[in-house]
Amino acid sequence: MAEAISTATTRITAPLTILAGPTPLVMPTGGCERPNAMRIAAADNEASLTDRDWSPWGRPEKGWETYEPLITQEIGSACGPESPGFAEALARWQVAHKLPGDGVMSAQTFEALRVLWLRRRPFVQAFSAGVCPPDADEAALVATDKAEAYSGKPVQLQAAALSAYRAMLAAAREEVFEVGANRQLLTIFSGYRAPSDDEARCDRDGGCGTLIRARCSAHRTGTAVDLNLGAAPASRPDSTEDFNRRFQSRTPAYRWMVANAGRFGFTPYPFEPWHWEWAG
Ligand SMILES: [Zn+2]
Repeated sequence: MAEAISTATTRITAPLTILAGPTPLVMPTGGCERPNAMRIAAADNEASLTDRDWSPWGRPEKGWETYEPLITQEIGSACGPESPGFAEALARWQVAHKLPGDGVMSAQTFEALRVLWLRRRPFVQAFSAGVCPPDADEAALVATDKAEAYSGKPVQLQAAALSAYRAMLAAAREEVFEVGANRQLLTIFSGYRAPSDDEARCDRDGGCGTLIRARCSAHRTGTAVDLNLGAAPASRPDSTEDFNRRFQSRTPAYRWMVANAGRFGFTPYPFEPWHWEWAG
């Protein structure tokens, strides 16, 4: 439920003020199985997608399937991750970001993407000064309806973030069959959390200051939401187990969020598919 600001590999030091919207997805001329020049890169990507051993967040994991929707959206590819068309779009993105344009989903390329995504979060930008951003004015927070809360117990958010969330939920229910049919999907299981409550939890459960649980959480701002995307069998919706995160990344609700949440001002925390922050 918490989110890290930095990891062993990279510290976020500079703010980025431009919030990019979704990139239109582009299909190469001749289809996704072209160009031939990208066949070797495509084979490499197909293998690493499920089998690469790496630690993009400082914790060992396998493959990059969990991040594939975000990557595909970011590079604007209408092609699957194992295709030459995807490799071509990735090569274009690499060159635009001053990386070797080989079309291979390397750890170096993922790191550039990861930093880009983290820097879009206003909370991370605020944190860049090295001081935990101030918590929300509790008197100004607004409670959700019961039906908007996963547990049925209303959660609190800043009014503007709640309005944006409501517009987003309505659009998702309209545009995604699964979300329209299951009224539990995209309900909120955590919104504003008082820093003192987080501290108490740190003392009680331990593990704070790690990837799994931040000591300074974005939830203090009243603009962060944890959204129910469902969960892998026998998992909770906030389980950071890799199989759960991978499961969630494949859901229609998450894929819709990746493509559309930016329209409503929400930006993702890629390690936790359920955690989104309203950027205004
Ligand atoms: Zn969260």
